[in-house]
Amino acid sequence: MKRIKLFASLIMSTSLLSWGAVSADSADLLSIDSAPNRPKNMVIMIGDGMGPAYTSAYRYYQDNPNTQEIEQTVFDRLFVGKASTYPAAVSGLVTDSAAAATALATGVKSYNGAISVDTNKQPIPTLLELAKRRGMSTGVAVTSQINHATPAAFLSHEADRSHYDALAQSYLNTDADLMLGGGQKYFPASLIKQFEAKGYHYLSDFSRLNDLNQPKVIGLFAEVELPWAIDEPNTNRLSKMVQKALELLSRNDKGFVLLVEGSLIDWAGHDNDIASAMAEIHEFANAVEVVEQYVRNNNDTLMVVTADHNTGGLSIGANDEYRWDPQVLRTIQASPEKIAKDAVAIDDWRTLVELRLGLELDEQEYQQLANARMQGQKRLHASLKQLIDKRSNTGWTTEGHTGIDVQVFASGPASPLFFGQLDNTDIAKHLISLLPKEPQPKAQTKAVAPTKPVNTALPSLVTLDKNT
Ligand SMILES: [Zn+2]
Repeated sequence: MKRIKLFASLIMSTSLLSWGAVSADSADLLSIDSAPNRPKNMVIMIGDGMGPAYTSAYRYYQDNPNTQEIEQTVFDRLFVGKASTYPAAVSGLVTDSAAAATALATGVKSYNGAISVDTNKQPIPTLLELAKRRGMSTGVAVTSQINHATPAAFLSHEADRSHYDALAQSYLNTDADLMLGGGQKYFPASLIKQFEAKGYHYLSDFSRLNDLNQPKVIGLFAEVELPWAIDEPNTNRLSKMVQKALELLSRNDKGFVLLVEGSLIDWAGHDNDIASAMAEIHEFANAVEVVEQYVRNNNDTLMVVTADHNTGGLSIGANDEYRWDPQVLRTIQASPEKIAKDAVAIDDWRTLVELRLGLELDEQEYQQLANARMQGQKRLHASLKQLIDKRSNTGWTTEGHTGIDVQVFASGPASPLFFGQLDNTDIAKHLISLLPKEPQPKAQTKAVAPTKPVNTALPSLVTLDKNT
């Protein structure tokens, strides 16, 4: 019932907005309904490179083979729509992570490589910055280095995503409360000292994450990105970071905005490595479940999950064969990268490979790997991935990104805003529209009771009606 009312007001707001004269956001109309319809807290979660084929593959990978039906995943439960991802025209139709993150953080399309600057390289305010201005707490928790494109576009501004050192330096002025991920390489001791002088607690030992009891944290747990999830089974680093972030950020009465990224799904996609990709999605899915549970327990929190783009052109089935066999992937115990590294170093490499892959090599496969191994670790790494693709019948079309739409998942107050076909910029626009109103100059707010939110929707609609 409530959902229908929300929809009705949304349709109304959309048609009015399309007249072009209204700057009032559609969220104003939501407040006609009974509370809570405007979230106090927002969590935006990005599976980097996690196009639709990945979440489908994950469903089959996760399926319990002992039951007849195919069980739903957290993505199936939370699915609400999809979004186009194309960047600003100057970069064509296929986005990179920087332009996509800029769209998701600011609501503005820019060129590939841009970190929350427009096509004239001028900074655009981000969701996290706008939230901070309203007195909310903000944070990021990612599995890449914290100054990688996606978190960077939520925290900072830079003409080129590859300016890692400048981005790290710029974080001194972000005022974000919490930054968790990798990237020690980009934050030398002298820079960390400056963070500490600003009141940040620095943490590099992941096992001490749970001891944290104050926001204002910069936690860097790897030189660059965190290790592949498949090489650290049951470590659940992202879930633990997210759990901690929710605990610390929720102490602010004014609410919080948290960005979470499963960064390495994209890296596995670029590598055309289906085994590592499934483990990274599993890591991300676990973190999504942590937030899903938080939203169930806290009905003032909105979660929106999406991908920035699709990577690798993953195909479930290949070579004209109607088959995809995820069972092959379930028994793999280490990344092909790690297996190759270890296998070039020992004589009885066949036993090691069979053990780690959880399969028996036939003679042809053995010969192929043996030949590759003679040519070194890199060739063996590639051959192992080929073998896994062949056994599971997985296909790839590129080692880059593709331009297809990505899925959108949401739960919590105002989640109907994210239903249906969107553009990636709409996601940011809606999230920004759901922030509390910016504090008004005193003269204008005098008459308003300070604790009661102002509903400006109806008056502005009436005004519009007269003027058009
Ligand atoms: Zn990528």
